[in-house]
Amino acid sequence: MSTSSDAVTGQPAAERVSQIVIVGGGTAGWMTAAALSKVLGRSYSIRLVESEEIGTVGVGEATIPMIKLYNTALDLDEAEFVRETMGSFKLGIEFVNWGRLGDSYIHGFGKIGQDLGLVPFYQYWLKMHQAGKAAPLDDYSINTFAARHNKFMRAVTDRPNSPLADIAYAYHFDAGLYARFLRRYAEARGVVRTEGKVMGVEQNPESGFIEAITLESGERVPGQLFVDCSGFRGLLIEQTLKTGYIDWTHWLPCDRAAAVPCVRTTPLTPYTRSTARDAGWQWRIPLQHRVGNGHVFSSRFISEDEAVATLMAKLEGEALAEPRVLRFVTGKRRKFWNKNVVAIGLASGFMEPLESTSIHLIQSSIARLTAFFPHAGFDETDIDEFNAHSDFEFDKIRDFLILHYHATERDDTPFWNYCRTMDVPESLTRKMALFNSNGRIFRDSSELFAEPSWMQVMHGQRMTPRGYHALVDVYPEEKIVEYMAGIRGVIANCTRVMPTHEEFIAKHCAAK
Ligand code: FAD
Repeated sequence: MSTSSDAVTGQPAAERVSQIVIVGGGTAGWMTAAALSKVLGRSYSIRLVESEEIGTVGVGEATIPMIKLYNTALDLDEAEFVRETMGSFKLGIEFVNWGRLGDSYIHGFGKIGQDLGLVPFYQYWLKMHQAGKAAPLDDYSINTFAARHNKFMRAVTDRPNSPLADIAYAYHFDAGLYARFLRRYAEARGVVRTEGKVMGVEQNPESGFIEAITLESGERVPGQLFVDCSGFRGLLIEQTLKTGYIDWTHWLPCDRAAAVPCVRTTPLTPYTRSTARDAGWQWRIPLQHRVGNGHVFSSRFISEDEAVATLMAKLEGEALAEPRVLRFVTGKRRKFWNKNVVAIGLASGFMEPLESTSIHLIQSSIARLTAFFPHAGFDETDIDEFNAHSDFEFDKIRDFLILHYHATERDDTPFWNYCRTMDVPESLTRKMALFNSNGRIFRDSSELFAEPSWMQVMHGQRMTPRGYHALVDVYPEEKIVEYMAGIRGVIANCTRVMPTHEEFIAKHCAAK
C-alpha cells in the first residue's frame, strides 16, 4: 500500500499508528473513545474533536442486551450507569398493530421455553398451537410474561434450572447523558477532547490517506488512524473519501422521524413499545424522568406536518419540548473502513430504530476495530475482512427489519400495501419460505438475532407454518402437553415473586 514517507524516520507515515483522532462526540464518538482508552491504555494518543454548535442526534434511547457486554468490558457499575442516565430496564419490545390493526405481540429477549431433545421448544409449541392445545407463546417466555406484568429483576445465576436464570435484559436511557458519562470515563483515561469545528482535511496526495484535520481555530490535528463519528454527514468517510452509500429505501421506505419527549403518566414499563401507524410507526421509550416518543415515517406516504400531528396527538402526557424532525436515508456505506478512516455510528450507515440496533452497531464496530487494530500498519486483507464482517452484520439486521413490514396482513393504507407486496431480498424470501413450510428457522452464522427473535416476530406478524419439525412426533402428545404446562406454570410462579419494575429501580438505581 503506498503511503507518504516520514521525513524523520523514512518509514511510511501510515504504517505506524500512535495517534488516533476521533471526529465527533455523539454516542458513537464517546463510546469509541471510552472503549479504546480502556483497551489500548495510554500507549496511544487518543484525541476527540467535537462541535457543540453542530450538536448531536441524541435520540438513541433503547438498546439490546449486548450493551451489557460493552458496559462490562469497561467495568461500569450497572446501578451507577442506570442512575446517571435516568435509565430503565428493557425485557423486549411490544409491537402493536403490525400484523393487523388491534394485534399486539412482544419480541422478548432471551429464550422461549426449554428445548426438548434435539428440537427447539418452539417446534413443540407449534404442533400444539396448530392443534389448538397451546397457550399463547408469551406464556412460555419469562421475559415476555414478566414484561406483560410490569415485573423486573436481574437473572438469578445460582439457580440454573429456573426460568429466573434466563432473564435477558437491556436498557432504555438518555443517550446524551450516556455520552456525558462515557466522556468522564474516557477523559479520566487520557482521551483529550477538543471543542471545535473541523473545517479542512489534509490528504496525502498519492495515497489519499488522511494526514490531519484542521479546525476553525486554525489548529491542525494530525493522526494516523481517523475514526469518523461525525454522524449522518460522514465528514471523512463520505465528504472527503467519497466512499459511496448503498440505499435501502426501496425495502425500508421510512426516511424521517419526528421525536419529542413527554411527561410519564403511567407505571414504568420494562419494554419499548412500537405502534404501527398509517405510514410508519411510533416508539415509546420509558425513562425514569420522562418518556421518549418518536414517529418514524415515510415521506412518500405522509407529509411532515401530518406525521408530527399524529405523534403529538398520541402522546400520553404533556410534551416537554418542541418536536424535532430528523431525516435519514436507510442504508450503509460501500466501505466501513476506507484507507485510514473507520466510520462508526451514523457515519457508517443507518437503519431505523425498530429493533434498537444502532447503538449495538456502534459497539460491534468498536469490537471489530479492536480485533483488526492496525497497530503495525494498514493491511488491505484486514480492512477487507473488517468490511465483510460489517456488511454481514448490517445485511442480516436489514432482513430482520424488513420482515416486520413485509409479513403483514395490513391493507388499509398505501404504505402498508406497498410494504406487503414489495420484493424483498432473496435471503429473506428464503428464510420466510423455510418458516412457512415447517416452521424451521436457521440462524445464519453469527447473525445478531437468534431463532427465538425470528420466531416471535414471524408468529407475531401472523405467519403460519404449514407443518412442524418431524422429530416432535417422537414424543406422545400427552407428554408434550404436560411438559409445556410445567414450563408455563413455573414461569407464572417466578413472575409472581418478581418485584415490579418501579420497585426494582427504586431499590437499586433510582436517579437522585
Ligand atoms: P451524532 O449524534 O450525530 O454525533 C455526531 C458528532 O459529530 C457530534 O458531536 C457533532 O458535533 C460532530 N461533528 C459533526 N460534524 C463536525 C465537524 N465539522 N466538526 C466537529 N464535529 C463535528 N439507536 C439505538 O440504539 N436505539 C434507539 O432507540 C435509537 N433511536 C434513534 C432514533 C432516531 C430518529 C435516530 C436518527 C437514531 C436513533 N438511534 C438509536 C441511533 C442513535 O441515535 C445513533 O446511533 C447514535 O446517537 C450515534 O450517533 P452518532 O454519534 O453517530 O452521531
